[in-house]
Amino acid sequence: MTDLLPLLQAFYREKLTMMLRHQAAARLVGQYDINNTYQYIINREEVQLSWLATAIADLGGTVTDEPEPTRKVSGKGAEAARAILQAIEEALGRMGKGTYGVCRDCGEPIAAARLNAIPWTRVCIACKEKQSS
Ligand SMILES: [Zn+2]
Repeated sequence: MTDLLPLLQAFYREKLTMMLRHQAAARLVGQYDINNTYQYIINREEVQLSWLATAIADLGGTVTDEPEPTRKVSGKGAEAARAILQAIEEALGRMGKGTYGVCRDCGEPIAAARLNAIPWTRVCIACKEKQSS
């Protein structure tokens, strides 16, 4: 897990670079519909970035707002970082479907405090505790 933090920070910079590219593209596109699509993508990316920042802060790290050229992520911790990214992607998908914040296991709403701490979580605290015991 020691390599997790730099990996997440690298992901953050990659995502940030991508969002800045989309923002630049959106400014160039005059057509309203296309621009709207960009806006939707950018909004999602902003949510994703803020969640990534949460994950990074959780590990005691900080994020820089300076985008860096894409760096390949590999080695120890890459799997853990990808798992978090995957969970974030899935959570964004659930937002689109309107099932965000609902426990996957029991179907009950997940407490706001838990969602604030881990916005991409799939299960409520009770089900999480059942899993780990
Ligand atoms: Zn539950």
